[in-house]
Amino acid sequence: MTRPSRVVIDKEALKHNFLRVRELAPGSKIMAIIKADAYGHGLVRVANTLSDADAFGVAFLEEAEELRAASIANPIVLLEGPHKAVDLTSIVQLKLEIVIHNEYQLDILEQAILDEPLQVWIKIDTGMHRLGFPLEDITNILKRVAQCKNIKASFRLMTHLATANEQDNPLTQQQLENFKQACNNLKVEKSVANSAGVIGFSKTHADWNRPGLMLYGVSPLTETHGDELKLKPVMTLESELISIQKLKKGEPVGYGATWHCPENMPVGVVAAGYGDGFPRHAKSGTPILVNDVRCALIGRASMVMLTVDLRNQPQAKIGDRVVLWGESLPVEEIARCADTIPYELLCGVHKRLKFVERG
Ligand SMILES: *Cc1c(COP(=O)(O)O)cnc(C)c1O
Repeated sequence: MTRPSRVVIDKEALKHNFLRVRELAPGSKIMAIIKADAYGHGLVRVANTLSDADAFGVAFLEEAEELRAASIANPIVLLEGPHKAVDLTSIVQLKLEIVIHNEYQLDILEQAILDEPLQVWIKIDTGMHRLGFPLEDITNILKRVAQCKNIKASFRLMTHLATANEQDNPLTQQQLENFKQACNNLKVEKSVANSAGVIGFSKTHADWNRPGLMLYGVSPLTETHGDELKLKPVMTLESELISIQKLKKGEPVGYGATWHCPENMPVGVVAAGYGDGFPRHAKSGTPILVNDVRCALIGRASMVMLTVDLRNQPQAKIGDRVVLWGESLPVEEIARCADTIPYELLCGVHKRLKFVERG
């Protein structure tokens, strides 16, 4: 039997979500964030579909190389910047823009001999405390930046929000104030917002926004689904029933025998499991669509299979379609049932699955 699980990527939905970003923040340019293989959707596929993006943001040099090799000509920003001095050679060759966020990177830029200056984004740590120059160093750093011959005079300033997915967390406002102060009225382009900023805080919109998750149709806000924000899910993870059992009341199902049939009932076996990227921590009761009808996961997912309660679909048969998340079944909901976030589920779909494009 061939593997029935597949990942359907809806390119129309991707374009729709991109336009939705424009609609929500009409005055800002869009750096479409496509790191981690475009959140599992396929780096080059997404870049080709979003050719109107003002720039693409990736984490690593290898991702930028893959994009340029596929003839993607849009500006590309390396969000983590150079890791080592040797990276600068490829950065110049591939015409990349870079984020710099620590003094090590500024040192190597000052010492490098480059044919032409680079477009550089200076990342300021306004409260996330992961990457970025500390606030108290900014005045000094900006002096060095202005004097560095390898940095274009039109450098940009950015920061990253830690809690914009929570509407009432005061840290977002604090970060905005810190950023404003650090920018000290400099007339250069700036960037703050991720998806949660684009959606939830118009005050975070700046010359550039940096949406990731929302492009894929998924809500970054806790307790909200993409469709409530007029977003359309891009990825659907689907599979098929490969077996059906008629089990008796009291019989256990699956590894660990964690679930017992409350009555005589049909149980379906689906050809997908944690080896494909379905979360093993998904609880019994996690919704699964069988022939577009909501059924429930029972027991623990195993490596390439999982079991589903078919009492809502007693006529289901082998070969019937099963949706694990995506269209009509928000990945946000599955993430909650598995105590994780949609980002992790999307990035975690296995690359060996068949990818099918639609739209
Ligand atoms: C990943 C990332 C984003 C996008 O975040 P979303 O929550 O997916 O919108 C924006 N900026 C930076 C620096 C990132 O690393």
